[in-house]
Amino acid sequence: MNNKQKCMLDTIRQEAKFTASYTGREAFDERVMQAMQAVDREEFVSKDYIDLAFENGPLPIGHGQTISQPFIVALMTDLVDITTESVVLEIGTGSGYQAAVLSRLVRQVFTIERIPQLAESARQRLKALGYENIEVRSGSGYHGWKEKAPFDAIVVTAAATHIPQSLVDQLKPGARMVIPLGLPYMYQELMLVTKSKNGAIHTESVLGVSFVPLVMADDEAPINPHSNQSR
Ligand code: SAH
Repeated sequence: MNNKQKCMLDTIRQEAKFTASYTGREAFDERVMQAMQAVDREEFVSKDYIDLAFENGPLPIGHGQTISQPFIVALMTDLVDITTESVVLEIGTGSGYQAAVLSRLVRQVFTIERIPQLAESARQRLKALGYENIEVRSGSGYHGWKEKAPFDAIVVTAAATHIPQSLVDQLKPGARMVIPLGLPYMYQELMLVTKSKNGAIHTESVLGVSFVPLVMADDEAPINPHSNQSR
């Protein structure tokens, strides 16, 4: 582990303490921290941002999208309480970083990305790095991945305006989903959705966050806050 990576892990530990009164978690599972250590974030950012790869912030990955902040990746991974037998669905593959972290802790990760170029580059990157338990699909994840459902956990890495019913339906009893909820580029809350053994749904707000938008309709273009064009 190099110095910058050690700094990144220390920052995650500190931020977990700072936010514990909201998240209820003083520290993340050591297995989650080990997965964060094992996945080299440098491999998931472009050369232009390589110096910032271990900073605790999001970075551009092209197409107006970002690789999430390491602390948030660790938090989301920790919140879904996965085991080595879990099968996990991620919506919003982006660079493939969150999928790589999850894949070190579970049996299988299925991940969906709506921008074909990002899906393809993540697929190639993950293959080159030797990840064999991640399947990347290009398309909208708003309706989940019915053929592979149900899942032990669902991690949505883009902000939705509501919780898609299809995703709730694809959770196993006892499973968990994390999903940022709120208006695009404005205040959002990271929600933890739990399906109890008898199928009842419980939702709780965990922390204020900021994610790129989840495109909710199949034909919808992502909202660009810097564009003057009306849609
Ligand atoms: N998890 C990523 C970060 C993703 S940023 C990482 O670790 O790098 C959010 C991603 O969600 C973007 O790439 C965006 O294109 C994608 N996205 C937005 N709406 C989507 C949808 N409906 N289905 C699938 N992917 C979507």
